[in-house]
Amino acid sequence: MATFGNLSARLTETLKNLRTKGKLSAADVDGTVREIRRALLEADVSLEVVKEFTGRVRERALGDEVNRALNPAQQVVQIVNDELVGILGGESRRLQFAKNPPTVIMLAGLQGAGKTTLAGKLAKWLKEQGHTPLLVASDLQRPNAVTQLGVVAEQAGVAIYAPEPGNGVGDPVKVAKDGVKEAKSKQYDFVIVDTAGRLGVDEELMKQAANIRRAVDPDEVLFVIDAMIGQDAVATAQAFQEGVDFTGVVLTKLDGDARGGAALSIRSLTGRPILFASTGEGLGDFEPFHPDRMASRILD
Ligand code: GDP
Repeated sequence: MATFGNLSARLTETLKNLRTKGKLSAADVDGTVREIRRALLEADVSLEVVKEFTGRVRERALGDEVNRALNPAQQVVQIVNDELVGILGGESRRLQFAKNPPTVIMLAGLQGAGKTTLAGKLAKWLKEQGHTPLLVASDLQRPNAVTQLGVVAEQAGVAIYAPEPGNGVGDPVKVAKDGVKEAKSKQYDFVIVDTAGRLGVDEELMKQAANIRRAVDPDEVLFVIDAMIGQDAVATAQAFQEGVDFTGVVLTKLDGDARGGAALSIRSLTGRPILFASTGEGLGDFEPFHPDRMASRILD
């Protein structure tokens, strides 16, 4: 995965250097932890998360499990792997389904994060599993958003609920509510509500998103975040957490060549699980997120 190219190379190199040693001294451990810290910071992982991560690795690497190990360096690699899985969320968390369909999923995030594309990806993925998703166009901010959602709906082969074209600006909260009503009456079992986002965090739009959340009482509110936004991820995620109290995270653009720190920070900073990863512009470039697989890719 390109996003982690540099970080992955740095960590792998650091751990490889360790493998040439037999028993590990405290200085060996400290040197390794220092290198890991540097690599994570350069990848834009938030300082708070870096401190927590390296603190835990150091403590465990100096402890008995390494001392007693037949191959101490290998044990340290295992610890780094375990701790990576830990900051990525430990167990995978699946999408929550409503007891009584439809399951309502609301998407929130900054403009350009990849929400509309994700709506199509999720819909296609759900359809392939035999579900009948309905896309609801509640992003009435961006002139093109409804049309764009129409395009992805067509590509995914799913239905869309949208205000009539040329119907003016409209009320996104009403569209969301009516969309869920439509799903109930026509027996769609999933509703995916696309919402508006601006380039930066915006009070007005956050209020709108909060109103949509209240109006449709979603089973999942997915915060969609571009994995390439670096240190801005912290403030953005916190603003959305306060604004819409999301239940899960979707990382997009993991195919990009940026440093990917957001991916490693977001779970610890928000306490919310990462549910999906988006890895390209095509509707098929999408997968459920598995912390253990991601950690192995980083330490490849
Ligand atoms: P929205 O404003 O949040 O609805 O974002 P869009 O869905 O319109 O996406 C913004 C741009 O990012 C579009 O050009 C998408 O094709 C692109 N995009 C979305 N997801 C991904 C991804 O995972 N990887 C890449 N490379 N591009 C993506």
